Amino acid sequence: MEGRSGGMGEGRGREAGGGAEQELEPEPEPAVAVEAVMSVQVVSAAAAAKVPEVELKDLSSSEAQPQLALSTAAVSAMAPAAGGGDPEAPAPAGERPPAPGPGSGPAAAALSPAAGKVPQASAMKRSDPHHQHQRHRDGGEALVSPDGTVTEAPRTVKKQIQFADQKQEFNKRPTKIGRRSLSRSISQSSTDSYSSAASYTDSSDDETSPRDKQQKNSKGSGDFCVKNIKQAEFGRREIEIAEQEMPALMALRKRAQGEKPLAGAKIVGCTHITAQTAVLMETLGALGAQCRWAACNIYSTLNEVAAALAESGFPVFAWKGESEDDFWWCIDRCVNVEGWQPNMILDDGGDLTHWIYKKYPNMFKKIKGIVEESVTGVHRLYQLSKAGKLCVPAMNVNDSVTKQKFDNLYCCRESILDGLKRTTDMMFGGKQVVVCGYGEVGKGCCAALKAMGSIVYVTEIDPICALQACMDGFRLVKLNEVIRQVDIVITCTGNKNVVTREHLDRMKNSCIVCNMGHSNTEIDVASLRTPELTWERVRSQVDHVIWPDGKRIVLLAEGRLLNLSCSTVPTFVLSITATTQALALIELYNAPEGRYKQDVYLLPKKMDEYVASLHLPTFDAHLTELTDEQAKYLGLNKNGPFKPNYYRY
Ligand code: NAD
Repeated sequence: MEGRSGGMGEGRGREAGGGAEQELEPEPEPAVAVEAVMSVQVVSAAAAAKVPEVELKDLSSSEAQPQLALSTAAVSAMAPAAGGGDPEAPAPAGERPPAPGPGSGPAAAALSPAAGKVPQASAMKRSDPHHQHQRHRDGGEALVSPDGTVTEAPRTVKKQIQFADQKQEFNKRPTKIGRRSLSRSISQSSTDSYSSAASYTDSSDDETSPRDKQQKNSKGSGDFCVKNIKQAEFGRREIEIAEQEMPALMALRKRAQGEKPLAGAKIVGCTHITAQTAVLMETLGALGAQCRWAACNIYSTLNEVAAALAESGFPVFAWKGESEDDFWWCIDRCVNVEGWQPNMILDDGGDLTHWIYKKYPNMFKKIKGIVEESVTGVHRLYQLSKAGKLCVPAMNVNDSVTKQKFDNLYCCRESILDGLKRTTDMMFGGKQVVVCGYGEVGKGCCAALKAMGSIVYVTEIDPICALQACMDGFRLVKLNEVIRQVDIVITCTGNKNVVTREHLDRMKNSCIVCNMGHSNTEIDVASLRTPELTWERVRSQVDHVIWPDGKRIVLLAEGRLLNLSCSTVPTFVLSITATTQALALIELYNAPEGRYKQDVYLLPKKMDEYVASLHLPTFDAHLTELTDEQAKYLGLNKNGPFKPNYYRY
């Protein structure tokens, strides 16, 4: 979590702050140049880079041209039948002469419109909200049970894990205590992405380590290691619930019924093992891939889901409450297998990639690409790339536009209310709220609270965002001006010390203080740890901090991210991520040699658009198609991409 928010915060902070001491991003091209760029659908990805230190590929370079053809397996499926657009732009798959490559090869055929239409909304039932309550997020912070009871989960120690580089062999027979010791969490890399939360069917009675158990699934296979294979049926129900909110993956499955774009792919994965991941894995299987999977976080595995996957034949090595030794053992069991060698990596946090680099570097000879999900993992890849040590192409899915929008704006718009409600049972109508920062996260929070009838004030440092707040009907204030009167203070700036001890001293009794932005730096929580103030834990993730005169403030999640600590991530948000991951795998796996070098790439814009388009049928949304004339007028290919990379959605 920390890494995730940190990375985003830092990157976007630089963009938004624009202080004198900051390095300014290059200005966008002037209009004329923009037109020229758009007319050939070639956009410098650098202009849109959110990770400034990274050298992104200039897609206009001849080497990268194939990327622009976007003759990707998946994307070709969405191309409308009619041609049009700019004659110089690469023709849609249907118009080009057959040629080997992802746009015309088996993958394209498998995902072509003929292979199946995107299911209509009626076929995609929304999930039962009551069931949604049963899926929780685990950042190692708090677990909320289906009946709303909040229980404390082991805290994630926010320190970087030491890679087990020097370990020659695993602890063959660790003691139970050793294995169960959770004193050291897995790296922040493994907690900086979303997961569902705890296994509510977990039986703490069963003390036996899964490593000591001999288990077989109903087909007699023992190539897995999960807590209890008997929980499979329960896990299957969780997976079925998740499927209903993951329409894009289900659509991909339908389209891949013919030829399989991932046929021959051997994917080794290391992600949170949740119902949503299971839907992804089973989709990859349906697309033709063989998968082996470990957990990227020692707490977040849903045991029953892992069991369901093992039961249906996926070699899964994960359980909730792994020790550090278990963690690396599980990863190794996925990689170090006789007669099976991965050719694709799907990683969340970079630990799997790191393990292969350190232990089995020769494996990279056969690996076609890495898809990385987390801020921290992506950062590591860029570091490798900079050092010239990245030996395969890698796709940074974290920074794709659709995913970012969902993570920052839409997810926060939903989860701010959830987080506040679960922790405080408060009513929002008429409450005075100040939201610090009117970026993506702030906009989401403000919109949700306004809709509930709260009186919302905004603080901003950037006049553009400030003006946006005014246009949206919010009062722009300085924090000092309202701090005495507000009922709730929410920080969403990606900055530090936005709420200081001075502010905290001046707040009124019972004021709720929480953070939706950057880790735990936005509120100066450390300044509250002084002898004259009393801390009273009233619930999990809820502290009363009491002043000598009896005034108390309600501090949520000790200033860490409220929604990650105290609420759930909607499956639909995870669906966006999972679809992005699946398409990135298809793209890297099918890319002809030379399309991608040993570097880190953003998902091609058109594939980002495709991710969004796959989610539209859920809403029975009808997208307008450009006419030939309109496409020509705008200088666009009718099948996208529809915006330059620098476009801000
Ligand atoms: P953003 O850059 O779009 O918005 C941040 C805004 O805060 C900017 O407009 C900036 O001008 C403003 N700001 C900076 N310092 C300020 C200050 N001292 N007072 C008032 N305003 C200030 O970024 P974003 O996408 O909204 O993300 C904000 C933070 O939230 C980041 O740290 C990000 O990592 C984190 N985030 C959290 C979640 C979550 O689930 N809670 C999801 C995504 C991102």
